[in-house]
Amino acid sequence: RPPLEIRGLVKEYVPGTPVLRGIDLEVGAEGITAVIGPSGTGKSTLLRCINRLVEPTRGEIRLRGEELTRLSGRALRLARRRIGMVFQEYNLVERLSVMENLLCGRLGYVPLWRAWLRRYPAEDIERAFALLDAVGLPDYATQRADALSGGQRQRVGIARALMQRPELLLADEPTSSLDPKTAVEVLELLARLTEEAGVPVVLNIHNVELARRFARRIVGLSQGAIVFDGPPEALETAH
Ligand code: ADP
Ligand code: ADP
Repeated sequence: RPPLEIRGLVKEYVPGTPVLRGIDLEVGAEGITAVIGPSGTGKSTLLRCINRLVEPTRGEIRLRGEELTRLSGRALRLARRRIGMVFQEYNLVERLSVMENLLCGRLGYVPLWRAWLRRYPAEDIERAFALLDAVGLPDYATQRADALSGGQRQRVGIARALMQRPELLLADEPTSSLDPKTAVEVLELLARLTEEAGVPVVLNIHNVELARRFARRIVGLSQGAIVFDGPPEALETAH
């Protein structure tokens, strides 16, 4: 069963005006799939439907064969833990240390005050240190998130997403708040670590050059429909 299967996905925020018009998309274990397209074409909506931050209007979304669109409550929380998220604005808890950000992320959607009542398993702490090493921040465990640069925050964002050993990783414009050089470094890291872990990535990115450089596959979205699907080389000849 492929990591992600989407069939006939429609999203209407306003009834009668679809933002996604019947998306069919299958994502295998094939590195980064970049979703590109102009602003307002539904890239973000597509990603948010997958983890149900947005409710799909119609269609099916399967994670390794498990249908997600009808899940709720505990089943939905468990499914979400199988999907790692990396955000444009990092979404770290600013007043907490880097280590605490990684460990709280591991607990998924547990409210923070409850997370404090838990004892963190030693293996989680070890994993967090290993991931900090992997993202090039071995000495930052006790730094507060609000003391970090944008690039460092996104490295922590990537480490946090990998903490939960996701089956799929969704990255929504993860480099749009970074300068060009840092953006390249962060995408290199994301590509390398997810490839090593065998985690397929769906990446929303409006920068076509970066998509070409780091994605194995490019999906072009226009007005809520897929208008291109192929390797980066094919995109160049299509222009
Ligand atoms: P992209 O990520 O490609 O920029 P979005 O998915 O953010 O596109 O938005 C697609 C369309 O859906 C836009 O017209 C946007 O205004 C609209 N939209 C996004 N979120 C909402 C929402 N919560 N309520 C109503 N309309 C929305
Ligand atoms: P993004 O880059 O995340 O798409 P936006 O500025 O388009 O950022 O949207 C910011 C927030 O506002 C998102 O949560 C989005 O869902 C919501 N939003 C976007 N367009 C609309 C809209 N037309 N009506 C209501 N909410 C919207």
